[in-house]
Amino acid sequence: MSEYFPHIALLPSAGMGHLTPFLRLAAMLVNNHCKVTLITPTPTVSLAESKFISRFLSAVPQVNHTEFHLMPFDASAANSTDPFFLQFEAIRRSAHLLPSLLDFISPPLSALVYDVSLISPVLAAIESMFLPRYILFTPSAKMFSIFSYFPTAVASKQITGDGEIEIPGIIPRIPGSSIPPLLFDLNSLFAKIFMEDSPKLKRLDGVLLNTFEDLEGKTLEAINEGNVVKGLPHAFAIGPLIPLQFEKGDQSQSALNWLDDQREGSVVYVCFGSRNAMKRDQIREIGKGLMRSGCKFLWVVKDKLVDRDENDSLDEVLGYKLAESMKEKGLVVKTWVCQVEILGHKGVGGFLSHCGWNSVTEAAWQGVPILAWPLAGDQKVNAELVEKSGWGMWMRNWGWLGEKLVDEEEIGKAIKDMMGSRMLKVNAVKIREAARNSNAINLEKLIQDWKKHN
Ligand code: UDP
Ligand code: UDP
Repeated sequence: MSEYFPHIALLPSAGMGHLTPFLRLAAMLVNNHCKVTLITPTPTVSLAESKFISRFLSAVPQVNHTEFHLMPFDASAANSTDPFFLQFEAIRRSAHLLPSLLDFISPPLSALVYDVSLISPVLAAIESMFLPRYILFTPSAKMFSIFSYFPTAVASKQITGDGEIEIPGIIPRIPGSSIPPLLFDLNSLFAKIFMEDSPKLKRLDGVLLNTFEDLEGKTLEAINEGNVVKGLPHAFAIGPLIPLQFEKGDQSQSALNWLDDQREGSVVYVCFGSRNAMKRDQIREIGKGLMRSGCKFLWVVKDKLVDRDENDSLDEVLGYKLAESMKEKGLVVKTWVCQVEILGHKGVGGFLSHCGWNSVTEAAWQGVPILAWPLAGDQKVNAELVEKSGWGMWMRNWGWLGEKLVDEEEIGKAIKDMMGSRMLKVNAVKIREAARNSNAINLEKLIQDWKKHN
């Protein structure tokens, strides 16, 4: 009998933080002899997403591609102004179109792996198709425990902002102050998605997590032993999802050339992800803080939530005087750079990060210490995890994005402390080794699961 190769459809949702892990997964599956069809909702919110998809498709031509054309929807009725959440909602409202799209995919599919933000509507659309269904939960396992326990925590009045949330099997308890702030408003689009989707987890065939034993072993155990919520499907820790060659592109070349001329480990890399923009007064404090730190720096400035709106020059954002003075000590850019490649450059010795989960896993992969400044969402949960595992420090009193103006003095001192810490460096090397040695057993188990479904 000839060997059977599973055919997996992958459906990401909105934002680079969701797309990137899907594309890395797609490449991993192709390398493990699976057939892959990538379904991309169109149009994308950011330019970064559409460019990333086209570069991926040229680099990995074995992957089939299908566009999922979204129906127009009236965003004014949704309780959110965040363009990425609104896109989640747009995809959710188009989910009923999926069966006809999936039916046309050939050869027939062995499973669908879709994004965490789409659980209920996609489930409702495909449940009668007898197609095994998995989600890629793009944040951490810790966040998965919060997500799956959330309705119980609401019912037992634990989501109050004060105190701690006690999730069975999860140690330590989660401080209320670390919970994504939007979850306190049960009318927000974000909280509604949590309340609606979390109970449906049990109807999935499996959950894929971009994490690994050495980072979240205890949490994974609690989830898979049924301590957090009974009856959840198996959670496969298949991380860290490995960065791909094609991601390099050519946009980062000038930054890499500049890094080539710097002393080993002397540069702090500063980037707050793909979808958080700070107010200009805060951006300028960071600029002055970097100058005060005495370190060399490579700083990616983001002035707008969505890259398509980035029209103002660095001189306008920083002010001419500050922009000029910074040229002597570092490199400041206002374009997309290939972060994972920059983190892997020997010149980089530390990372001032918002702790988006992809950034955390990339820093682990490259063994770079983190100075955590969580701004929103799951980022405080991630910051705590990095701090606990000893390769990062978390500035707890800096608050969520916009809560207060963090001044140049504090920023400069924290950067200097992080860059000077031997302990962080030693532990970052250890986490790098663990990330690189995290074996592929879980991915193999998953592929075996898919073969059984045939
Ligand atoms: N999230 C979730 N369920 C959802 C939508 C989001 O668990 O239905 C998670 C999300 O992946 C992240 C956090 O909640 O951990 C904040 O969401 P956001 O989409 O802003 O994350 P990001 O795009 O920054 O990764
Ligand atoms: N990223 C990048 N270059 C940039 C900004 C971001 O390569 O200039 C990548 C980063 O490496 C990560 C993703 O965008 O893979 C951001 O995801 P994360 O979960 O860290 O944060 P989010 O943007 O979702 O808040």
